[in-house]
Amino acid sequence: MALFHEIKDWTPGYMNVAPAHLDIMAQCTACGQEQEFSRDSLPNSLKHALVEDVERRLKCSTCGARAGKLKFGYWLK
Ligand SMILES: [Zn+2]
Repeated sequence: MALFHEIKDWTPGYMNVAPAHLDIMAQCTACGQEQEFSRDSLPNSLKHALVEDVERRLKCSTCGARAGKLKFGYWLK
């Protein structure tokens, strides 16, 4: 099973600053649900947006809360 290793206390600030080799996980801070986040799912208008602006638009598919948090890191294989 692959484990996601989050880089603690670090954020690129802007989506386009996150190095391409890093993976992104979206976590719902309301229910704890985690889902892999794909940069390709971002509309062009958000590709250079602040990470916080993208987080504000996340909606949890499990509980419906808009309490998403993006975590940057990589998969431990
Ligand atoms: Zn949720």
